[in-house]
Amino acid sequence: MQIHWTKINEVIQETPEVRTYMLDCPDGFTWEEGSHTHLGLEGFNAGEKPNKGLVRHMSISTLPDETFIGITTRIRKQRSGFKDILEGLDAGSPVAVFKTHSNVPLKREDKNIYLLSAGVGLATFRPLVREYMNRPDEMGNLYSLNIDSSKDYLFTDIFESAPEKGFTSKFVDNRDEYYDQVRKLAEDKEGLFYVVGSDAFLTENIALLRGLDIKAEQIMLDKREHTVQEFLG
Ligand SMILES: Cc1cc2nc3c(=O)[nH]c(=O)nc-3n(C[C@H](O)[C@H](O)[C@H](O)COP(=O)(O)OP(=O)(O)OC[C@H]3O[C@@H](n4cnc5c(N)ncnc54)[C@H](O)[C@@H]3O)c2cc1C
Repeated sequence: MQIHWTKINEVIQETPEVRTYMLDCPDGFTWEEGSHTHLGLEGFNAGEKPNKGLVRHMSISTLPDETFIGITTRIRKQRSGFKDILEGLDAGSPVAVFKTHSNVPLKREDKNIYLLSAGVGLATFRPLVREYMNRPDEMGNLYSLNIDSSKDYLFTDIFESAPEKGFTSKFVDNRDEYYDQVRKLAEDKEGLFYVVGSDAFLTENIALLRGLDIKAEQIMLDKREHTVQEFLG
């Protein structure tokens, strides 16, 4: 396993609670859309065993053509020790990235893709939208639906509908509207549905989609293969 130590280049305050940490890209480090990495804070591997309290899975919210590795996360007042340390870091602080892998690259199967996310889950989909905009080959249309009760919607520059490019983006702030919209999207019985959010969010979305005759193989989760099977039954 290769551990890449790098530095924070910039911290962007996206909304009152959400920040993006732009990391310098180490030589030879690359990734595809939908990737997550392990973000390690200084000292995580100082002992005999790695200190898991200093490591979190994080999606990469950028594409390599943006030069930086973007890590977008919510930092609340009540937060873990990990987020507490992260909040104190600034440009120049060292962090590590390792074990990077995408469970949710764009499927180029000439089908419409529906990106369903809750809150900061949108970060996982940001590079998918950029990748689609760069190269829409062998794809149908792309649709994003994000629910965020804070109403501080993320990445509104990227998640802006572009009808001429077949991209539609919608933000909602309540569950009734969210699930009404999902029901409408699921009228497309051939569509591919990508879902990112808490486990409870995944379970609710899967139950709804399956109840609307969307097959398990049409639902994509940001989980390892064996966990996907557990969720999709
Ligand atoms: C494949 C994958 C990709 C992921 N991508 C991302 C990503 O891009 N961005 C991201 O942010 N996360 C991502 N996650 C989740 C991430 O790994 C963390 O689990 C998540 O951010 C929570 O972080 P935390 O445990 O540090 O807790 P926190 O975010 O600090 O807290 C979690 C919750 O517990 C509450 N809480 C925490 N401490 C206390 C306390 N002392 N007292 C009371 N309440 C408290 C908080 O208010 C919050 O509601 C991903 C996970 C996976 C598996």
